[in-house]
Amino acid sequence: MTESVVIIGAGVGGLSLSVLLAQQGIRSKIYEKSAKIGGRTSSMMYKNHILDNGFHIMPFYTQSAIYQIFKKIGIETSLKLSKVDAIAFYTEDGFHRYPKGIVDLLRLSMIPLKSRVSLLKILLPIAFTSIKKTESWDDVPLTESTKNLDAKTNAFFEAICMLAFADSAKNISLGEFARTIIRANPFKGGTSEFAYPQDGGYDMISKVLLHYAQKRNCSLYLQSPIKKIIVQDQQVVGIIDSNQKFIDTNCVVVSYPAYHAINQLFDKDIFDKDFVNKINKLNETTAVVEVHFALSKKLDKRHVVFPVGSHHTAKGIFFISNMTPKVSPKGEHLIISGTPVPPSYVKNPFKIREIVDQMKKEINEIYPEFEESLLWERPMAWSLVESVVKKPGMVWKSKMPHSVEAVKGLFFVGDSTISYGIGTDSAAHSSILCLPKILKYIKTTKPVITPLS
Ligand SMILES: Cc1cc2nc3c(=O)[nH]c(=O)nc-3n(C[C@H](O)[C@H](O)[C@H](O)COP(=O)(O)OP(=O)(O)OC[C@H]3O[C@@H](n4cnc5c(N)ncnc54)[C@H](O)[C@@H]3O)c2cc1C
Repeated sequence: MTESVVIIGAGVGGLSLSVLLAQQGIRSKIYEKSAKIGGRTSSMMYKNHILDNGFHIMPFYTQSAIYQIFKKIGIETSLKLSKVDAIAFYTEDGFHRYPKGIVDLLRLSMIPLKSRVSLLKILLPIAFTSIKKTESWDDVPLTESTKNLDAKTNAFFEAICMLAFADSAKNISLGEFARTIIRANPFKGGTSEFAYPQDGGYDMISKVLLHYAQKRNCSLYLQSPIKKIIVQDQQVVGIIDSNQKFIDTNCVVVSYPAYHAINQLFDKDIFDKDFVNKINKLNETTAVVEVHFALSKKLDKRHVVFPVGSHHTAKGIFFISNMTPKVSPKGEHLIISGTPVPPSYVKNPFKIREIVDQMKKEINEIYPEFEESLLWERPMAWSLVESVVKKPGMVWKSKMPHSVEAVKGLFFVGDSTISYGIGTDSAAHSSILCLPKILKYIKTTKPVITPLS
């Protein structure tokens, strides 16, 4: 092993890439600006509970890009996962089972039978189309297909979009929605199951990845923000850290959102203005308010409940202790309630309070024991839920490419870069797609890669 690749950022994208490189015998040096790994999936301890950075769930379970990476490097048994499959909708007439397949859709009690048939007419052709075909729908909004449905069926779509995209149907590309449905179709080898780490904390994924990489001589430098990437004659020659120290390297991978990185890390004239403007357009985020509640009682046996309908502020209630009891001390239970909000709310403590109080009232209506069993609450507000763009015209190939003509030895991974899916799935998928490009570069530039002692 002689080659070493510098990776900026120790989130799911950067760490996925480091293990894929390590499997090829290529060492990486990972520079992370914060004091812990996991990026947006990092976790913390609070009053003896393991709290995630907002609710995190692994989509498509064994079909996810993360799981595929674990399998590829032979460590799928190192990450113990709990299935998240006890999911229900809640409407004024009670709980309704979440559909896991076509038969379930026909039994979907929350919408009239006639609407179930209309729903199948939309979903079936999508579920059996090819991934290639979905790319022709990338510019089309999902609502183009759903606009003629009745209010109850549209409310069902909203709940599905909340689960899959943490967003409303009007902001979702039909192409991205279709890829999600295909990957959830069991007749096409897909799964509609979700998963959460059994040991608690979504950053367990990053911890297991890092363990594999470190055993193969990869190094991690925490609290090491990189300030600049030095490019000479269209070739990466090094990076500069926060102590102004120059670190020699001719292969750098940026793993944090590209629309930030290309504005922060490079001299102004490195990239073409039109290209920068195009990438800056990817900077579209969704804002959410999410609240952790610790309870002295178990309110439900389910994993997730979606209150359906615009009159509900809480769009999802996630019973984390039911996914794994390891997140909470004995006798206590952790849930998260969340809702998307306009970005301006995030910096407005009064609005956040209003939303939290409304959520509490609603949860108490569904679970009358909620208030008396509440031990503490911890609200969070995020203006960055998904840097990945799921908007019509901004998904898949419209995202940041993994390499650019203008600079050799420079690569990009992470959820803002070309990849299917959203969130951690897309961060991991981007690394799978980027790997061959890095390997090709290393092969052709081998003599000039700096050997590590
Ligand atoms: C509230 C919330 C809920 C979410 N829910 C889900 C979910 O349920 N399921 C799902 O799959 N996804 C979810 N996501 C999205 C998911 O967290 C992200 O898509 C994913 O973590 C992105 O990974 P990444 O590696 O691309 O980027 P990041 O996680 O952002 O990692 C980039 C890393 O780079 C570091 N960095 C930045 N600048 C520098 C620098 N100059 N030098 C060194 N290091 C630097 C950062 O500190 C960070 O650690 C959610 C996100 C949020 C915020």
